[in-house]
Amino acid sequence: MIDFRSDTVTLPTQAMRAAMASAEVGDDVYGDDPTVNDLQEMAADMFGFDGALFVSSGTQANLLALMAHCDRGDEYICGQQAHNYKFEGGGAAVLGSIQPQPLSNQSDGSIALEDILNAIKPDDVHFARTRLLSLENTIGGKVLPQAYLAQAQKLAFDNGLKIHLDGARVANAAVAQGIKISEITQYFDSVSICLSKGLSAPVGSLLLGDERLIAKATRWRKMLGGGMRQVGILAAAAKLALTEQVERLSEDHANALFLAQGLTGMPEFTVDLTKVQTNMVFATLDKNYEPKYLAQALLKRNIRVSTGRTLRFVTHKDISHQDVLLFLKVLTPCLAEAKIS
Ligand SMILES: *Cc1c(COP(=O)(O)O)cnc(C)c1O
Repeated sequence: MIDFRSDTVTLPTQAMRAAMASAEVGDDVYGDDPTVNDLQEMAADMFGFDGALFVSSGTQANLLALMAHCDRGDEYICGQQAHNYKFEGGGAAVLGSIQPQPLSNQSDGSIALEDILNAIKPDDVHFARTRLLSLENTIGGKVLPQAYLAQAQKLAFDNGLKIHLDGARVANAAVAQGIKISEITQYFDSVSICLSKGLSAPVGSLLLGDERLIAKATRWRKMLGGGMRQVGILAAAAKLALTEQVERLSEDHANALFLAQGLTGMPEFTVDLTKVQTNMVFATLDKNYEPKYLAQALLKRNIRVSTGRTLRFVTHKDISHQDVLLFLKVLTPCLAEAKIS
């Protein structure tokens, strides 16, 4: 099966499975799991933070960050398209009593600095207290410019806000720019990163921050039921995600570009090549074709794609250059099956 739906479908490597089988473990709620401690120290070092916390998912990492930065009645500013606004069940509001202040994303994925400034509430009993700015990088596969991150950090600092990065795919952003992950994360007070997407670990995310933030997040994690015991089994794979899978992401980016260029040559699809910066391709299907039928035709040939007028293709470890070639080859007969007028 060639699965373009997401990089979350990546399977753990043989090395990960072997490391999991032989991992040294202990009770992590007591802080006794040596493999978890190793992972957290390694990550803190790699990202340039005091501390790191291994958690079950990216959603949990973002929620812990929001709850560690904000109290009840506080607010965070984020993009209208932000994962931690749109795709996390409203967790900050439901579980943290934190009000989101979503703002439009520009076409490059950023939030206009002027819009952020205008959204910061004055100290007045009518308003929620604006505490935090939350950005996402990559966002929709796009890389936020380094200069923008520096400006956003300054804006946050000048206005007494903390700044969080949803860096689920920050490793993709770093590899695409040929820079270290820490060159991106240096602009933030906290960062979340997913190890179970392109980095191919079976489970887990990290939250990074200073000692105080990590202590608060550890408390919230326990309350939310996220305290885990011999979780070094998972941390063993997570360590390999950081040591063996980061550089490899450049192959995914090359495959995405190759896929996008293939689609650009077809009249049935519209693709903006300037937006293909990492491992995602968005292609809009001509209205004379039914996306659902196209997905069905591809599935018969063991290829899975998302459905929708705009299709999202995500490349990852378990999709090779050969797989992309095969996909482009069978696309023409599949389109014939999906034609409706
Ligand atoms: C996937 C993702 C998350 C959440 O990760 P889960 O592990 O699925 O909870 C958060 N932010 C972004 C940008 C993501 O892509």
